Amino acid sequence: MELVIPKVMNLDEFMTGLIRRNPHEAEFHQAVREVADKVIPFINKHPEYQRARILERMTEPDRIISFRVCWEDDEGNVRVNRGYRVQFNNSIGPYKGGLRFDKSVTQSILKFLGFEQILKNSLTTLPMGGAKGGSDFNPKGKSDNEVMRFCQSFMAELFRHIGKNMDVPAGDIGVGGREIGYLFGQYKRLRNEFTGVMTGKGIAWGGSLIRTEATGYGAVYFAQNMLEAQNKVMEGKTATISGAGNVAQYAAEKLIELGAKVLTMSDRTGFVHIPDGLTREQLDYIIDLKTVKRGSLDVFAQEYGLEHFAGERPWAVKCDMAFPCATQNELDEEDARTLLKNNCILVSEGANMPSTFEATKLFEEAHILFGPGKAANAGGVAISGLEMSQNSMRISWSREEVDTRLQGIMRRIHEKCVEYGKENGYINYIKGANIGGFKKVADALLAYGMV
Ligand code: NDP
Repeated sequence: MELVIPKVMNLDEFMTGLIRRNPHEAEFHQAVREVADKVIPFINKHPEYQRARILERMTEPDRIISFRVCWEDDEGNVRVNRGYRVQFNNSIGPYKGGLRFDKSVTQSILKFLGFEQILKNSLTTLPMGGAKGGSDFNPKGKSDNEVMRFCQSFMAELFRHIGKNMDVPAGDIGVGGREIGYLFGQYKRLRNEFTGVMTGKGIAWGGSLIRTEATGYGAVYFAQNMLEAQNKVMEGKTATISGAGNVAQYAAEKLIELGAKVLTMSDRTGFVHIPDGLTREQLDYIIDLKTVKRGSLDVFAQEYGLEHFAGERPWAVKCDMAFPCATQNELDEEDARTLLKNNCILVSEGANMPSTFEATKLFEEAHILFGPGKAANAGGVAISGLEMSQNSMRISWSREEVDTRLQGIMRRIHEKCVEYGKENGYINYIKGANIGGFKKVADALLAYGMV
């Protein structure tokens, strides 16, 4: 029998093929490049993955569902948006990943998010595959009734493709408690069943305590783990945060609780500088402003006599730690240089892919503590996983129980990063997270044969 000796995988060749197969999908290319950059050298030491074309298979979604969402606005106009669900990989569990409602949503953005989700979910140690979905619907400025009608129409198609053992969506940008309520309510009506088909549900109807806080808390726990590995503490450190949404709010809450000083919050209008550090009262004001009144941060700045920098990002404010918690590519090479010049020692990504590839390279070269999103922000999906467990068992755990589990999961993700990311005394968390997340899914794919 003739054996075909696999040739060594090469990053540029692999990326050329991927770009050819997925043209015009810049965000997806970027997410894959970051992973392939670290995983290909690992694959080259493990030819069984190369022989089975594991990375090629992992970068091709199982399926992409795209559909029309028709709804009526308050003036009686017919509106049309596009809905998606990218079911990327279910090798280690049901598809799992959030829904994003934002005018910027494209197939490329959802593919990048779905691909990242495979590795992130693998890192949590829980049995969850990777997916992402959403729509180019812009919830900004829409009434509650308009959002409800949109969500119901969106679910009128999506319900065919999801299920508690098949695909379990959650929230993301533009999809919070209100939207999950409308979506879950419609699913329940259409299927006539009450199951854990979505996570991020309200506490009264199957949600888990700490789910709302989990991504932000997790990003801070991960930062704490990185600091502790260097015998450093969080207390007394200064932090800049971008975003003022779900992830940013609870990263801020945990940082304040652990004695750090939060110097900035931001939104689409710009950032607010809080030189004396955000107080609990100010944070409560922001949470109400963003989740109830749906206003922008210049209102907060005015209320507290703080400076608002319209259209700017917060990275020029000198800090010890940076927490990008808004959106993808919000921290570029120049921002990274500024942070490093200002002696920032830690970046923990609450958002997905907030740093550009060039920025991550600079952090890597500078050997600062850099927690990539798929590790640092995995706390949210981890607690979603625990929401699924509680729903299946028809029980609910206490706040303390869930928080303890969250801390344990973040610690184990950190350990996994250390296991695969150690390089002559430096811990390369990008390498650790990518290889650690990849290996488990790759081994499952090998076990399944050619699927
Ligand atoms: P939210 O919608 O609650 O908040 C997003 C925040 O980021 C808002 O303050 C928003 O501004 C700001 N923002 C969004 N887009 C832009 C932009 N283009 N420029 C400047 N600011 C922007 O979303 P989440 O907090 O849930 O998500 C934030 C990030 O965290 C995303 O990358 C998401 O994928 C990631 N993530 C979220 C998880 C979760 O559990 N929610 C889990 C893991 C990752 P404004 O207030 O003006 O709208």
